[in-house]
Amino acid sequence: MSDRVSDRVSDRVGGPVDVAALPDVATLPDEEELWAAAATVPDPEMPPLTIADLGILRSVSRDADTAVVTITPTYSGCPAVDMIEAGVVEAVSALGVDAGRIRVERVLAPAWTTDWITEDGRRKLAESGISPPRPLLIGEPAGEMPKGEVAVALTAGLPRRPMGDITCPRCGSGSVVELSHFSSTACKSLYRCESCREPFDHVKEL
Ligand SMILES: [Zn+2]
Repeated sequence: MSDRVSDRVSDRVGGPVDVAALPDVATLPDEEELWAAAATVPDPEMPPLTIADLGILRSVSRDADTAVVTITPTYSGCPAVDMIEAGVVEAVSALGVDAGRIRVERVLAPAWTTDWITEDGRRKLAESGISPPRPLLIGEPAGEMPKGEVAVALTAGLPRRPMGDITCPRCGSGSVVELSHFSSTACKSLYRCESCREPFDHVKEL
């Protein structure tokens, strides 16, 4: 290794380092491997789903000798984000990447939406007896809108409404009633199926 690398490492950790013991920069896994590792991290609030299933995992890249993982947290103020970040660092470290060369970046805009939950994610939810969020339709603006304001309205986000009906994840019946708007977590509401009589959680559309 060159003195340049040695100096840089010393600066970062604040002391002399056995440079020979560090993995070679060229061994940083490729982006597919990084994605595959990060994609295994479970979501703390919906454990059957990974952060990839939920669409929280946005991208991975390599910035010189550093693996960069970009995530968009779900519901704002979600305390699970720290756990997710720790999980990402652990999963990528398992590829042999030093934790000091892993950077997790949070991107808050555009905001996460339940529309980012993948087909796999929706299937896993239904298999766990949880009703997946319905796809969202962009609502029509109320009344006539001056042309100049359309672009502004689009970036600000028009009202969106869920498409279709909530159905029972067990029997598929559409005959369901909401028992509580807040279930085990704020992101779910509690329903009961009138056909099979079973209660179930529904992931709220966002
Ligand atoms: Zn049912």
